[in-house]
Amino acid sequence: MTAFSELSLRSELQDALAAQGYEMPTPIQAQAIPPALLGRDVLGIAQTGTGKTAAFTLPVLQRLAQAGAGGPSHARGIGALILTPTRELAIQIGESIAAYGAGLSLRHTVIFGGVGQVPQVNALRRGLDLLVATPGRLLDLMNQGHVHFGRLEVFVLDEADRMLDMGFIHDVRKIIAKLPTERQTLFFSATMPREITDLAARLLRDPVRVEVAPAATTAERIDQRVLFVPAAEKRHALLDMLGRDAAMDRVLVFTRTKHGANKVTEHLSKAGVPTAAIHGNKSQGARQAALEDFRAGAVRVLVATDIAARGIDVDGVSHVVNFELPNVPENYVHRIGRTARAGASGIAIALCDDGEERIFLRNIEALTRRRLTVVAGTDLRRSAPDSSRLAPAAERPHPQRAAQQHPAPKGAHQSHPAPKGVPAHPARGGHHRQEPAARKPAAPSRSAGSFGELVSVINGAPPARAAGRRR
Ligand code: AMP
Repeated sequence: MTAFSELSLRSELQDALAAQGYEMPTPIQAQAIPPALLGRDVLGIAQTGTGKTAAFTLPVLQRLAQAGAGGPSHARGIGALILTPTRELAIQIGESIAAYGAGLSLRHTVIFGGVGQVPQVNALRRGLDLLVATPGRLLDLMNQGHVHFGRLEVFVLDEADRMLDMGFIHDVRKIIAKLPTERQTLFFSATMPREITDLAARLLRDPVRVEVAPAATTAERIDQRVLFVPAAEKRHALLDMLGRDAAMDRVLVFTRTKHGANKVTEHLSKAGVPTAAIHGNKSQGARQAALEDFRAGAVRVLVATDIAARGIDVDGVSHVVNFELPNVPENYVHRIGRTARAGASGIAIALCDDGEERIFLRNIEALTRRRLTVVAGTDLRRSAPDSSRLAPAAERPHPQRAAQQHPAPKGAHQSHPAPKGVPAHPARGGHHRQEPAARKPAAPSRSAGSFGELVSVINGAPPARAAGRRR
């Protein structure tokens, strides 16, 4: 493995990396940085969490530091543009530039929508070397004549596939049309749907293609557990876990819907657990505030939907709880990748009900080629209907679009209603009984015991012991 010291990075960048405590480049960095430093175009296929931000930021900083030695930045003009889809990502990239470029006298600014434009215009007027921007606001400011790219040397397109998903691709094309054609282009995307492949083919000149391991393998360091629990009892189960396990100190909870996220947030907040929600119905400001509170430890639990959570970069997430399992298995991998960032390990807990989620779970296990450890409840995996078989990976639709085209059935548990009068937690010395293949509607999940027991199991007690106990 190459160390950063073996890459031909300037001493200021080496020092900044050392100050961050980074010694070894991640695979995407090791592959992308050397050709980018040589001025080659790069097509990087990597998702967030792989270290891709530094993979493009470091070569850009190096190039501009070399080009701009001497002379004030207002005379130099904008040397690099980094386009990214969301405000959160833009801010994170700005922070990376500040950290890695600490020893260089380069100026940068970050512009995005949803806030006043005056400070952004003022920053542009003062002059800068690097501009990080989201497409809508950048196009606005360009149309108003505030931005000039005559001196641009490098263009970075970050999360190209997400630009497409979020409907920004036309704006992106309009911006690109105004950039000098003589430039270096670094193009990053987690997936390569056809439109993105076409765009890359038009933009890149003889690019070096670098690709990191598919999403499924990033999950390997994470301790992945599953609790079988009826949908109606999940909120109680989550609260109980939080009440008993102090190690759950920075917990990211995923729901499938915004409404679901609000309900969980309300439930936990009422019970006194500092909780915030982040989803598409929240304003940019509210999302940013929630994220900052979570980062600072002011809220213990952040409840998120998939779209809102993509790109969240918070170190030290102790647990990811899949309150509802995603119907697109790749989303599970994206979700749990929020813990175990950059080499750390983490814990992911899935709450699986007795309806369609059994199918989702099986699809997830097929994708990751790993079986989750059952920590509580009756293992319902075998009772998932057979029709759930996963198509070979190549035939699977792009996760985001698949989610849009085939939204998850609401309230999956409702398709197998619990027979009336059957208590959800039958008070019996349960054991891990395999449900027979379900032809008739599945019976309510026979949990191993009370939630106290569930939690003691999560906290380390082996399932067999807890299974025989009662509260
Ligand atoms: P990214 O994929 O760019 O969002 O980066 C994911 C996380 O990895 C961020 O928290 C970075 O600060 C961190 N990171 C990036 N490069 C390295 C590295 N070489 N060693 C350790 N951590 C890194």
